Amino acid sequence: MRVWAVANQKGGVGKTTSSIALAGLLAEAGKRVVVVDLDPHGSMTSYFGYDPDRLEHSVYDLFLHKGSVPAGLPGQLLLSTSHEHISLLPSSTALATLERQSPGQSGLGLVIAKSLAQLWQDFDYAVIDSPPLLGVLMVNALAASQQLVIPVQTEHLAVKGLERMVNTLAMINRSRKQALPFTIVPTLFDRRTQASLSTLRVVRDKFPQEIWQGYIPVDTRLRDASRAGLTPSQFDGKSRGVVAYRALLKHLLAAQLVAQVA
Ligand code: ADP
Ligand code: MG
Repeated sequence: MRVWAVANQKGGVGKTTSSIALAGLLAEAGKRVVVVDLDPHGSMTSYFGYDPDRLEHSVYDLFLHKGSVPAGLPGQLLLSTSHEHISLLPSSTALATLERQSPGQSGLGLVIAKSLAQLWQDFDYAVIDSPPLLGVLMVNALAASQQLVIPVQTEHLAVKGLERMVNTLAMINRSRKQALPFTIVPTLFDRRTQASLSTLRVVRDKFPQEIWQGYIPVDTRLRDASRAGLTPSQFDGKSRGVVAYRALLKHLLAAQLVAQVA
């Protein structure tokens, strides 16, 4: 299994949309995918038709055992989605209580890594959707993953948020054996606005190595897909957004190959 996390300490930048779009395309390619919703808001969970306020069992259950994960528990928590090859480890609002704990002291930093280790045989990919703040859950997402996708909305102020995320990553990398490779993905790009054009230029200048050279355009079909509870490619495989996500997936798979060889 390969584990990808999608994270940025800013909300509304396309994290959940990117997680589901990429998971959907992987599933379409025949991969078995588990998506993990680590955001207490539970947007990914809602996307697939579950109410994070009402779920009795969720990813939160995994954090209730002092950092160890009982055998079989992650598998019991899986829910089905609109795509037969995508299973969901759902969020619940209870997760918010974890955010207030300090990641260093709680001993809960590896709960998701340990949980996914139990699912290693059952899935080809895990895609983790992360909360927009640095706490236990973000630390878990980054500790569990082998590749990080950072969506960046192409608008003013985005660069500050990106720098904050890259600093967070540098901090996390100190406790990892290998630095976590990351790919910056410009999102919500609108070529008619100065903000989009200038942000894209600044980010490309600052992170020439890490940025994906394409961008995800503003595409209302992505919003329509979420309303329908379908992955973007299930909803409309030819929409501009899906075409862009398909190019991104190709890039991420190529980057992964390079990382494996190195
Ligand atoms: P995050 O998870 O970072 O908070 P979301 O993926 O939930 O961000 O996106 C925020 C909102 O913007 C959602 O309503 C989503 O449907 C919409 N959205 C995301 N990406 C696009 C896009 N490329 N074009 C149009 N709407 C988008
Ligand atoms: Mg989200």
